[in-house]
Amino acid sequence: MRLSSGVPATLPENVRERLEAHYRRRGFRRTPQRETIVAAAFSSEEHFTADELWERARSIDPRTSRATVYRTISFLLDADLIREIDLSQGQAVYDPNFVEKPNHNHLVCVDCGRMIEFEDSHLEVFHECLTRRLGFLPSRQNLRIEACCETLRTTGRCAHLIEARIKGKRLPGRRR
Ligand SMILES: [Zn+2]
Ligand SMILES: [Zn+2]
Repeated sequence: MRLSSGVPATLPENVRERLEAHYRRRGFRRTPQRETIVAAAFSSEEHFTADELWERARSIDPRTSRATVYRTISFLLDADLIREIDLSQGQAVYDPNFVEKPNHNHLVCVDCGRMIEFEDSHLEVFHECLTRRLGFLPSRQNLRIEACCETLRTTGRCAHLIEARIKGKRLPGRRR
């Protein structure tokens, strides 16, 4: 987790703007604890579970409560500042990168759990054409590809898998 030098003093400009508009719209009070959690959520491009966010927030302010983390996650989802993504890990994972990259896609390795984000303009054109051909107007799009780890298949070992096991991460697992 990249949080060694603390939280950036300022949030990315477009995140800040959308956040403030949402505070006004919902009539929510800004509390230091909520601000801490928001800063923690956007301190890195990494996806997070609720507990991971709680851990990050507590490294900034140890008094952060778990309940406030859950409430802030709902608030950020409602503001469309983060999105819940399906990584087939059986637990909710949140992605803070859709503000900067609204149409990004995910490739998930079912063997080692590695997740790669990618954007592709050809894919966007393709999705657009496909959606219109079916008689709809596209609004948002993202693709998730499940794949097998090439490194693991060819060499029998994968540093990412070892790391995931050490950290006790849940792996997506094959569906076959
Ligand atoms: Zn993402
Ligand atoms: Zn791998």
